[in-house]
Amino acid sequence: MPDGEAAPIPAGAPGVQLYPAPFEAVVTLLRQGIDALAAEEGFPRLAIPPVVPRALVERAGYVKAFPQLLGTVHSFAGTPAEWKELAPHAVEGGAWDSAQRAGDLVLLPAACYPVYAGLAGRELAQPERFAVEGQCFRQEATSEPGRLRSFRMVELVTAGTEAHCLGWRASWLETVAGWLRGMSLKVEIEVADDPFFGPTRRLFQAAQRAQELKYELKVPVADGLVQAIASANFHKDHFGEVFGFTGEGAPGNTACMAFGIERIVLALLHAHGGRPAEWPRSVIDAIRGDN
Ligand code: ATP
Ligand code: ZN
Ligand code: MG
Repeated sequence: MPDGEAAPIPAGAPGVQLYPAPFEAVVTLLRQGIDALAAEEGFPRLAIPPVVPRALVERAGYVKAFPQLLGTVHSFAGTPAEWKELAPHAVEGGAWDSAQRAGDLVLLPAACYPVYAGLAGRELAQPERFAVEGQCFRQEATSEPGRLRSFRMVELVTAGTEAHCLGWRASWLETVAGWLRGMSLKVEIEVADDPFFGPTRRLFQAAQRAQELKYELKVPVADGLVQAIASANFHKDHFGEVFGFTGEGAPGNTACMAFGIERIVLALLHAHGGRPAEWPRSVIDAIRGDN
């Protein structure tokens, strides 16, 4: 464990940070811990790039539900003559970006979306499982500690029948709560909702809560600031319907266990102090999952 302060360093824009070596050493321990929890069940790893096809988030319903959070990838597709008009602005500080156009990619908003799209057309006789990690982007309105625009999300994902996904989600919620409590974090499990945008917000949030589709594991990450450091989600057959895959003949159900990597590290720094090299051995062992 490298010596020194782990606190993230501001990168010059709200919600974007740089991470010193002691912070990253804790990230490495967390990945080991999650791997240890997941080892028995077995989750093939799938590497996820930080961009996804725009068509994917449109089909998944993300654009409709969370237009305020989505980051689109724009680029200049004009001619050299058109750029000649704009080029001076790039030097003098003007609207050099006035001809940028949205392309066929957007920034990854959550690590699990590409997994569901990848199941398109499949008939799942057995549940599928994947372990993923993504660099996610969300255009958050505020930038208190732990509310980043660029952050890492590790997810364990499954697809299959409704009964499988519900049982899987309940069991992972307990497993992860136990793991986090083993690190001496004060964990509250709460039914939660997502920040749907616009006039339908309350209706969608009430429906989501009534069906208990989302559980959050909430922990203090700074003085007076409690945040979800992980969430356990059940999507019913939403992704099976939109991407066209089935579990035992019916539209496929899905569930995911998501870990907010930076937030878990912040919670640990808040609980055990800013220098991980000075944390008790028992905390390190608990994170890594050797008990
Ligand atoms: P919140 O309610 O705090 O906005 P969320 O419901 O949007 O969180 P999810 O969509 O469930 O979060 O994302 C999975 C996990 O990713 C969260 O439990 C959290 O730990 C982490 N996460 C979500 N948004 C951010 C963010 N803006 N910065 C850092 N981590 C985040
Ligand atoms: Zn997910
Ligand atoms: Mg959010």
